Amino acid sequence: MAQLSPLLKQATPVLAERGEGVYLYDADGRRHLDFTAGIGVTNTGHCHPRVVEAAREQVGTLIHGQYTTVMHRPLLRLVEALGDVLPDGLDSLFFLNSGSEAVEASIRLARHATGRQNIVVFHGSFHGRTMGAAALTTAGTKFRAGIGPLMPGVAVAPFPQAYRYGWDEDEATRFALRELDYALATSSPASDTAAFVVEPVLGEGGYIPAPPAFLEGLRERADRHGILLVVDEVQTGYGRTGRFWGHQHAAVRPDVLITAKGLASGFPLSAIAAPTALMEKAWPGSQGGTYGGNAVACAAALATLEVIRDENLVENAAVLGARLNEGLREVAADHPEIGDVRGLGLMQACEFSTPDGEPDTAAAQRAHRAAAEQGLLLLTCGAFGNVVRMIPPLVVDASQIDDALALWAKAVAGAAG
Ligand code: PMP
Repeated sequence: MAQLSPLLKQATPVLAERGEGVYLYDADGRRHLDFTAGIGVTNTGHCHPRVVEAAREQVGTLIHGQYTTVMHRPLLRLVEALGDVLPDGLDSLFFLNSGSEAVEASIRLARHATGRQNIVVFHGSFHGRTMGAAALTTAGTKFRAGIGPLMPGVAVAPFPQAYRYGWDEDEATRFALRELDYALATSSPASDTAAFVVEPVLGEGGYIPAPPAFLEGLRERADRHGILLVVDEVQTGYGRTGRFWGHQHAAVRPDVLITAKGLASGFPLSAIAAPTALMEKAWPGSQGGTYGGNAVACAAALATLEVIRDENLVENAAVLGARLNEGLREVAADHPEIGDVRGLGLMQACEFSTPDGEPDTAAAQRAHRAAAEQGLLLLTCGAFGNVVRMIPPLVVDASQIDDALALWAKAVAGAAG
C-alpha cells in the first residue's frame, strides 16, 4: 500500500474538504478561519465564484494550449490585462508555472542580458527550492543544508533586519547598503554582477518589510554599476501589501519583476516581466516549458485581476492590514514574549523572543498550534521558526479580522499559560 512521503511537513493537521472565501471546512464539517491563504495565494478567497466560473468555462473549451506549439487567447488576454497593472516600461511577459521557475527564468535572463554571472541576494531571502532558486535562498538551513554544491556565483549581503540587530530602520538600512558596497568591491565585483534579487517584504525569512530607502539604495547602485534590479513579488504581489506591488511602497522601478502565487488564485501560474529591450538580449527559445501559461490558469488569472479591481482588494488590504496590525499590537502589549509586530497590508507577523532578545521558537510554535486548535490557521516563518505570520485572503472583512484577533489573543494566552 502506498503512502504519502514522510518528506512532507504539514503546518496543520487539517484535511480540507472545501474552501469558501476566508474559510476552509474539514472532513468533520468544522470551519477554520484561513489566515494562510495557501501561503499567500488565494487573495480572492477560496473558490471565488468569478474565478470558478472562468476556469470552468475554459476547461470545456481548451485546457492545454501548449504555448511553444500554438498560441491561445487566454494568454493573449492576460498579457493585455497585466499590462494595465505592471509598472511602466515592464511591457514584456514570459509565463511559467511556479515561483521557483520564474526565479530560475530571471537568473537566465539576467545572465543573458548582462553577460555577467553573479547574483547578489540578501540575508533571509527566499526565492524557491529548485536548485538555482535554492542557491538564492538563505531563509533557513532546511532549504539548503545537505543539498550542495549549489549554483555558484551567488553573493549574500545583509538585509536591513532592524529588530534582529536592535537598531532602527535607518541604521539597519545604512549598514546593509554599506555592506553591499563592500561586497561589490570585494566578493562580487560590480563588473561581474548581473543582478540584485530582492523581496519587497522578506517573506519566509521573517516578514520584514524592506525600508523604502533600502530599495531606493539598491536602485541607485544598480544604475551606477549596470546591474539589474530583480524584484521577487511572488508573495507580495496583487495587493497583498496594500499597494498593487510591494515595491510600490518605495520610489523604485524594477528591471525585472517576478510574480506567481496570487496571480491565478491557486492555479499554477507564474511570470517574469521586463522591458522588451531587455528580453531581446536573450533569444527566442532560450526559455520555455511544457505547461507554462496554461489556458485554464490564464483564464483564472484574468478573472482574478477583475475581482481585485472590482472588489477594491488592494485598498481592503491596506485598511484591514492596519486594523490587523493594531490588534496584534494590543495583544503583544499583554505578552512580552511577542517582541515585535510588523508587516505591510495583509502580510503581518509577530516575532517571539526570550526576555534577553533571543528567538523564542518554542513559544511561537505553541501559539501557532494553539491558534489552529481555536480554528485559526496560521503559518510560521523566519530562520528560527519564531515568527507567526498572518496572510488572510484579501476578501477578508473587518469582522473576520476581529474574529481572528480574538482567537489569536486566546491562543497566545493559552500557549503562555
Ligand atoms: N519567491 C518568494 C518570495 C516566495 O515566497 C516563494 C514561495 N513561498 C517562492 C519564490 C517560490 O515559489 P514556489 O513555491 O511557487 O516555487
